[in-house]
Amino acid sequence: MNTKKSNTTFNFDNTYLLLPSTFYSKVSPAVVQNPEVLLFNDALSVELGIEGKQDESFSLILSGNKLLAKSAPIAQAYAGHQFGHFTMLGDGRAILLGEHVTPAGKRFDIQLKGSGITPYSRGGDGKATLKAMLREYLISEAIHYLGIPTSRSLAVLKTDDPVFREVINKGAVLARVMKSHIRVGTFEYASYFGTKKNLQALTNYTIKRHFPELSEAQNPALSLLDNVMRLQIDLIVEWMRVGFIHGVMNTDNTSISGETFDYGPCAFMNSYNPDTVFSSIDSYGRYSFGNQPEILKWNMAKLAEALLPIINPDEKKAISLAVETINKFDSIYSDKWYNMMFAKIGIQDPEEEDTSLMDELMDIMLKYNADYTNTFAGLFLDDLLDDNADFKKALQPWKKKWTNRLAKNKGGLEYAKSIMKKTNPVLIPRNVHVEESLELADKGDFSKLYTLLNALQKPYDYKEEINELLFTDLKFDKKYQTFCGT
Ligand code: AMP
Ligand code: MG
Repeated sequence: MNTKKSNTTFNFDNTYLLLPSTFYSKVSPAVVQNPEVLLFNDALSVELGIEGKQDESFSLILSGNKLLAKSAPIAQAYAGHQFGHFTMLGDGRAILLGEHVTPAGKRFDIQLKGSGITPYSRGGDGKATLKAMLREYLISEAIHYLGIPTSRSLAVLKTDDPVFREVINKGAVLARVMKSHIRVGTFEYASYFGTKKNLQALTNYTIKRHFPELSEAQNPALSLLDNVMRLQIDLIVEWMRVGFIHGVMNTDNTSISGETFDYGPCAFMNSYNPDTVFSSIDSYGRYSFGNQPEILKWNMAKLAEALLPIINPDEKKAISLAVETINKFDSIYSDKWYNMMFAKIGIQDPEEEDTSLMDELMDIMLKYNADYTNTFAGLFLDDLLDDNADFKKALQPWKKKWTNRLAKNKGGLEYAKSIMKKTNPVLIPRNVHVEESLELADKGDFSKLYTLLNALQKPYDYKEEINELLFTDLKFDKKYQTFCGT
């Protein structure tokens, strides 16, 4: 147990400023009008060792209106491939207040999103709408409680500053917490716009902060690539486990720390179909559910390209080493994905034939548009199984084979049930409920949002009270579109 005393506020350090100045711009958050805390994450504040939530001056810090003496706010510079096209980016509507060091010695970026323009705003207003920030809070917390690495949301504050999009929206600031905001795009920035020295400095910094054990590696840059690739594979396998579609897997939204972040047009898939896309800007399905692993591999190739100059001074050698690493992607991903899927159906000690059992189930689900979450949850909770009679009928022969297979488990059916319960959530944030709760909250009624946030803290527990949150409205999903939400 951690017995060290909590702080009343952030305990800031600012190591990012030790990087060459090309990596950031010093900029203060804009002063916002009448900030009011609408959501505050008590559990997270405890994890961070902060007790100042009731404090008015802490609200001023979270809104960006007051700076702590130890805060050295910056906007980070980065580039990135957006939908395959390389471009200069940077924090255009986010400001890093500092790195909070917890009483247990853990370091977290504290970033304000929607806190005004920066040198990287390019024509944007640096602001964020209330609805988009509430959405990020809700989905990031859902992802966290599903057990998936993610940025967290500490607070959403409403402001009296209007935000002009197609219509006038309420303004907000989100306080975001993450191991770091270093991205694949930060390396691309260093490689394309900086010097080799800059790239080396970023690599050393990243290794020291996230992978200290690699400083002794024979080729630290190559080991960094390998480690980031493995962390990201683990992350995407987790998204595939719960049906999460990030929606905008650009290289600037791919973290080095292996955390999910930049919650824009993300959504959860209901009916199983690998082609599922909800984002209004993803017309070609580049970031569809089933394309996520392929895109991750592409993003990792971009990281590899950025690192080439320091993998080896001889470009040919550097390329061959990088390619060798990236070529491991498919088999690592495939092994991890199958193992995760085997856990979803309770298989212990997988054998060769189990892959076809798995593939057969996916084919039936696709054919009958079965609900991804409820199909798996329905394997151990009968009531949850899709009430689609044709699907139920089609599933019977498969279920027979599956039951026979489970009998071969050393731990029998009990083992299967225990592992399935841990792997298959009962509750995911269903689009229809997410949108309804946000519409209401935007008008000042937070009751449904609180209900959802509460229930989503225990997504693996089935309780009758949450029944109405467990099903979707398929008509709603058909026309559902998500937006980059700025
Ligand atoms: P995102 O879609 O959040 O990953 O953002 C892509 C890029 O656009 C980043 O460089 C953001 O900082 C920038 N950006 C997004 N919204 C705004 C805004 N309202 N004002 C300024 N920059 C923005
Ligand atoms: Mg982004």
